[in-house]
Amino acid sequence: MKPTKRLYKFGNLTAEGNKNMKALLGGKGANLAEMCNIGIPVPAGFTITTEVCNEYNSLGKEEIIKFLLEEVQHGIHHIESTMGSFFDSIENPLLVSVRSGASASMPGMMDTVLNVGMNDEVVKTIALKTGNDRFAWDSYRRFIQMYGDKVMKINQNNHSGCLFEKIIHQLKIRKNLISDQDFSTDDLKELVHQFKQLIKKQTDEEFPTDPWTQLWNSIMAVFESWHTPRAVYYREIHQIPNDWGTAVNIQAMVFGNMGNSSGSGVAFTRDAATGVKEFNGEYLINAQGEDVVAGIRTPLQITKSSSINWAKLAMISEDERNKNYPSLEEAMPKVFAELNEIQQKLEYHFKDMQDIEFTIQEGKLWLLQTRNGKRTGAAMIKIGMDMLEEGLIDEDTCLLRMNPLKLDELLHPIFNPKSIKKATAITRGLPASPGAATGQITFFPDKAEQYFDENKPAILVRTETSADDLKGMHKSVGILTARGGMTSHAAVVARGMGKCCISGAGALNIDYHKNTMSINGKTYKEGDWISLDGSTGIVYKGKLDTINPTVSGSFDKLMQMADGHAKMKVRANADSPESAKIARNFGAQGIGLCRTEHMFFEGERIKAMREMIIANNETERKNALQKLLPMQRQDFEGIFAAMHDLPVTIRLLDPPLHEFVPYEHENQQALADEMGISLSEVQHKINNLKEINPMLGHRGCRLGNTFPEISQMQVRAIIEAAINLKQKGIRAIPEIMVPLTGTVEEMKLQEEIIKKEIELVFEERNYKINYSIGTMIEIPRACVVADEIAKHSDFFSFGTNDLTQMTFGYSRDDAGKFLPIYIEKGILKNDPFAILDQVGVGQLMEMGVKRGRTTKPGIKIGICGEHGGEPTSIEFCHSLAMDYVSCSPFRVPIARLAAAQAAIRERK
Ligand code: PEP
Ligand code: MG
Repeated sequence: MKPTKRLYKFGNLTAEGNKNMKALLGGKGANLAEMCNIGIPVPAGFTITTEVCNEYNSLGKEEIIKFLLEEVQHGIHHIESTMGSFFDSIENPLLVSVRSGASASMPGMMDTVLNVGMNDEVVKTIALKTGNDRFAWDSYRRFIQMYGDKVMKINQNNHSGCLFEKIIHQLKIRKNLISDQDFSTDDLKELVHQFKQLIKKQTDEEFPTDPWTQLWNSIMAVFESWHTPRAVYYREIHQIPNDWGTAVNIQAMVFGNMGNSSGSGVAFTRDAATGVKEFNGEYLINAQGEDVVAGIRTPLQITKSSSINWAKLAMISEDERNKNYPSLEEAMPKVFAELNEIQQKLEYHFKDMQDIEFTIQEGKLWLLQTRNGKRTGAAMIKIGMDMLEEGLIDEDTCLLRMNPLKLDELLHPIFNPKSIKKATAITRGLPASPGAATGQITFFPDKAEQYFDENKPAILVRTETSADDLKGMHKSVGILTARGGMTSHAAVVARGMGKCCISGAGALNIDYHKNTMSINGKTYKEGDWISLDGSTGIVYKGKLDTINPTVSGSFDKLMQMADGHAKMKVRANADSPESAKIARNFGAQGIGLCRTEHMFFEGERIKAMREMIIANNETERKNALQKLLPMQRQDFEGIFAAMHDLPVTIRLLDPPLHEFVPYEHENQQALADEMGISLSEVQHKINNLKEINPMLGHRGCRLGNTFPEISQMQVRAIIEAAINLKQKGIRAIPEIMVPLTGTVEEMKLQEEIIKKEIELVFEERNYKINYSIGTMIEIPRACVVADEIAKHSDFFSFGTNDLTQMTFGYSRDDAGKFLPIYIEKGILKNDPFAILDQVGVGQLMEMGVKRGRTTKPGIKIGICGEHGGEPTSIEFCHSLAMDYVSCSPFRVPIARLAAAQAAIRERK
């Protein structure tokens, strides 16, 4: 269906849109409208909707211009009448900005063109009107540079850096100038001239002088930038659908580069790294917004207190700070007071921490953007819990606002204080994104990617980063930049990724040609080890030990609050007393899967296990199992003790036996010696164990049913361990789980074997304990006959790893070869082994749950496949009214939060 309205106007303290229209107007457009609605000064403009981006994608430029023509003309008239100047007028010209803005924030990923409407005539008028030649020509050269880059794609096929920057650099050298600020008007005129020549040479076209041509081409370039590889990659890692599209915001230009009473800045209503309630941010005098974000000049602090702290860190004296680095609060007290009031108003209105962009044009403050600020996991919790306490939000909002996956960041390692004591600090920068990273220096994003592929931890070291470095940043363990502040690209993007980052380490000198960096006379080369402490900003030489962090009080409060809302319990997949303890510390309410085969891999155990596998007959097998029994019993005692009073689901042996046999000659010989048989006999047995398709072979309950003595030994170990503990006053709650059941007969036989062995142990020990017997549901057939299987099961646990494998027919071990291509081609939206396929696998689960409950209404049901720790899959499990999810210990907090969110969403 064709949209009926493609454009929404705002300005002069009114707007056609509002903050609830993000899907249509994009985040930026919706919030610009909302700011106008609540009386905040915003330059007039209009937003072309995201629907038009999708129209553009299917119809192309010519058709879209036809649809938009009249509405865009009206939009421009609206800006003209509000601002009192005119687009395409030489006498009283209006310049506009053309900015992207999707409904999900994609900072720096798409294009922006500023100063549209500028040409050889207009520049003269602006110079005359403002009495500021330098400003007018600087604006013109910026425009040509941006338009040339974003619209005319001058740099597209050039890999040796930005061609415009090269011209700037050459002029600086020729004139012996240090910074862009030192250019005279004549220099800027020369740059304009050279830029135009470059464009003509590269494209065989003149630079367009007609403002309308400039405007239409800029709009189309913004739509087109939805498809740039970096934007596509960003959407991929943040799971933003490709069909959302971007809106385009066209707005009257305001100028922060009109002299010393002008400036631009970025501010946060609370600290984006720690969450502390403190207005903070950075600005530059006589600069445009992109200068602050680009990190080309060292930004100044907004508040006096943070300016003083910053100077201390940078070892700058108070005198020098006052002279060269004043805060906005000191340099422009009136503007600061107004900004401070606005930031409070915005936070109160949006009820979340705001990330604000502003420009001061000759003493007048304009707000260019407000959005919910990106933050670290720690800040997310602190801000949410503080706002709850302040009465700004309620519990539901607080919980729903948390991104469960961001909790991961709190669980990241920090440096071991002992190893820090011995470490050599080589320099310091800004603590842009917390965490600890130890890795090897790489100077280029593609090198960082290569290191990642080679399993080497890369630290990406750059003078400054740009959006094109995104993939390299993502593949690095940490990021270090020489320039930039807390709001520069590296800092913002790293925080969003939860990746350790230090920015603005000014002592750092990088030589990209030599692949080296020098700090205070010492040189470091690619591949050298360094360590970054993203929480203090200190860079250390060499490798440092890391330790797991402890979490804050707010974290515990949040988790308790989440448990109060969640309907499902969260258990952990854990196979050792150590991991059981970690899981319990993270709030696991039991173990949902203990994979017993993981216990057999070490030392003596593997020997006994191999003997058991190689055994010629039942007697030999039983002898070997006798050796395994005490080891298993001891393990179970440890796990039960760690999880006392909580249920522990122990799965009987599952994987194909050949996984345990040795394939190297010397190990085969050792096994032969140990068992007193010949090497060839061992090899013969190993050959016999080989299967063409082991995942569908002799594994799971097929093992326990063909070699019941294996199940018997394991059951005995479980029950004896539980009795031993109970006799010591420790309550174990064992749940014995049969893997890979596909027919009711399989389950029935396993149940008989298990119960018989348990009765034997009870008799021998003259002692009884409670236990339950259940099964995994991980074969499609089991879902279909779940009503039958339930008759012999106290509980079901969905093994969605195998269920996904068998439903799709994708081998868990081989799918990696084609899944990425399938996702790229859109055949699959996600990797179904990571995110539950609700429409396929999920339907089988629903059938399994329903049918199981038909015969046994109260049957306990959970999930223990990898999906048990993934938020969208958890929500699906909630919708099936499952009793619990089980996931790896470090995912337990994520699952607790996701379970609470699922319950709240259902209620709403
Ligand atoms: C499963 O298949 O989902 C499961 C938990 O078992 P495993 O991964 O051990 O096969
Ligand atoms: Mg399985």
